[in-house]
Amino acid sequence: MPITQRFQAIQAILNRPAPVVARPGSLQALWASDVFSLAAMKSALPKGVFKSLQRTIVQGGKLDTSVADVVAQAMKDWATGRGALYYAHVFYPLTNLTAEKHDGFISPQGDGCVISEFTGKLLVQGEPDGSSFPNGGIRSTFEARGYTAWDVTSPAYLMHTPNGVTLCIPTVFVSWTGEALDKKTPLLRSNAAMNQQAQRLLGLLGETEIAPVNSSCGAEQEYFLIDSEFTALRPDLMLAGRTLFGAPSAKGQQFDDHYFGAIPERVQVFMQDVEDQLYRLGIPAKTRHNEVAPGQFEIAPFYEAANVATDHQQLIMTVLKATAKRHGLTCLLHEKPFAGVNGSGKHVNWSIGNSTQGNLLDPGSTPHENLQFLLFCGAVIRGVHQYGPLMRAAIATASNDHRLGANEAPPAIISVYLGSQLEDVFSQIRSGRLEGSAKAALMSLGVDTLPDLNKDPGDRNRTSPFAFTGNRFEFRAVGSGQSVAGPLVVLNTILADSIAWISNQLEDQLRSGAPLEEAAFNVLKRTMDEHGAVVFGGDGYSDEWHRMAVEERGLENLRTSADALPVLQRPEIRSLFERTGVLSAIELESRFDVYSEQYILAVEVEAKLVLQMARTLIYPAVSAALSQLVGSIQSQESLGFAPDRTIACQVSDLNEQLLMHAAFLSQALTEAPHDVHQHLRHCSDTLLPLMAAVRSAADALESLVDDALWPLPTYQEMLFIR
Ligand code: ADP
Ligand code: MG
Repeated sequence: MPITQRFQAIQAILNRPAPVVARPGSLQALWASDVFSLAAMKSALPKGVFKSLQRTIVQGGKLDTSVADVVAQAMKDWATGRGALYYAHVFYPLTNLTAEKHDGFISPQGDGCVISEFTGKLLVQGEPDGSSFPNGGIRSTFEARGYTAWDVTSPAYLMHTPNGVTLCIPTVFVSWTGEALDKKTPLLRSNAAMNQQAQRLLGLLGETEIAPVNSSCGAEQEYFLIDSEFTALRPDLMLAGRTLFGAPSAKGQQFDDHYFGAIPERVQVFMQDVEDQLYRLGIPAKTRHNEVAPGQFEIAPFYEAANVATDHQQLIMTVLKATAKRHGLTCLLHEKPFAGVNGSGKHVNWSIGNSTQGNLLDPGSTPHENLQFLLFCGAVIRGVHQYGPLMRAAIATASNDHRLGANEAPPAIISVYLGSQLEDVFSQIRSGRLEGSAKAALMSLGVDTLPDLNKDPGDRNRTSPFAFTGNRFEFRAVGSGQSVAGPLVVLNTILADSIAWISNQLEDQLRSGAPLEEAAFNVLKRTMDEHGAVVFGGDGYSDEWHRMAVEERGLENLRTSADALPVLQRPEIRSLFERTGVLSAIELESRFDVYSEQYILAVEVEAKLVLQMARTLIYPAVSAALSQLVGSIQSQESLGFAPDRTIACQVSDLNEQLLMHAAFLSQALTEAPHDVHQHLRHCSDTLLPLMAAVRSAADALESLVDDALWPLPTYQEMLFIR
């Protein structure tokens, strides 16, 4: 019998020499060495130019064109001095990916020579042919012009590949008619809208010195690592990023022995290599550990301004994938690569603040006395209640649907967890009397050599999609493979709208003569009366909550992307984005189109893969197994034995089911409706269940068929051999 490729892969992995990675240098030497940072600019630019640029970065406002030329020259010298021959405007199309257009610094001269050239104009504006990027009908291909424009608030950096260095310049990407074709433009606009309203509310609270308010983000990234020898044998992992087949391993994650366990050596070497590159890029990678599932890990950088954090998050995903490849590993950022095993999320920690008032979501030790905190937190509560379905839509992808509500990830019902202390404060507000805050306690460990620990005033709740965690909110339902831009746009926008709602009322109350404290209390009471239903501290996984949320609290349970994406077309959502200036009606509609198209494409590609794998990999293995079984039965009978036929019969039945469901799936693929809403439903209600039916037969076969014949690396192998 031939040795299957699967066994060869295992041999190759076991015999693989450990990768050699240089030990990192000192943190000081590494840190941001590939970034044209403020410090680098300060030393490279004339004083006046630097001051002007710094003003634009910190306070906003237009960049002076004369400044751009000087900056371009300095940036080019800095980059070419480090070996760069090319520069790239980097932008973030609606695909969750990062796009780059590379241009040489060269400019041919009449005499046949070339000189290296880079002007302010080239720095500030680029013109990639944007026609192949999804735009949701904003442009026809004959109007393919797209422009990139330098985002001064996110620093330029160098990317190293084995044969060269490229200067990368973060940019926004817009159409010839000025519509945003990317994820960065709305993020910058949402931050501006939030800033405007936050400053207004701070003014009403009597603040006179108010610096620009910015949103911050720290995103915890979960991912899986599996050996690339296995990926090469799994078309599903290669093309869809998740397994479309695979019986559960006898040992899964039940022992909880991986979570925070010692990091396997090979993975630690990989992580070190990743962090080394991230440090050079000025990305403050801070935490690393094993996650719940075998083969699953997490990396979390320290939080930064939301726009920079978003660019850095994109870079983290790029570096994780590219580095894994060099280490003979595949980094899976899919939300649910393995059925029955915990999926991956990206917890988006989010807060707002400025340099004069600090973190506006910091409750302090006596939150009931902290009007500023209560009003901003009240605005968040109102925003989540009013626009929960929009938050759901912001995390709606084909891949994240497999994770949400699967009893290890937050449910698709969006609610807010406040923790016991704040839940108590806000319910006092609701009852009309605000008297005090429960104190944070010290916790004695009962051993006198150990210190007493400070206890947080509220515990954590892993079952909540959106939880307050001390001085920030954590949006836990975001998918691991997503750009964090979309969720941040939604959070900033609903906050801008809700602060405006609160400020309007506060102004009315103050005008009618109420003292500030009383006015604020009245507004907060109304906020809780009308929107308190979204606050929930219990078990978000329970059936009871699913029932209560919908029937008693009036919250929506949008289970799939097919339910959630049409939220983008609701009139109140269009009005929200128009009012705040974050997205025009056309821009919003284009996002519905693009995200729907992506959902449909993702499901249909997977459906085709299911068919292909069922028919060309699994069926042939099952046929061979069946012939073996039948052959054995016949030869036993010819000798007068009475062989057991159970397994042969089961294999034959399951094989029939496999082929039957595959035929149904194949038929369903030809019946795609033209209307986009029906097409979304066709994917979620017809294709996905049929894919599951094919899989169910195949997975049952996997545990019956001769292991030596099975073509696909198993869960056990992929999750445990490293
Ligand atoms: P945990 O897993 O315990 O929630 P981690 O340390 O893994 O915590 O990640 C928490 C993330 O939240 C980090 O990126 C951290 O920098 C970020 N964070 C901390 N404070 C804030 C804040 N005020 N605003 C935004 N993000 C924050
Ligand atoms: Mg964490």
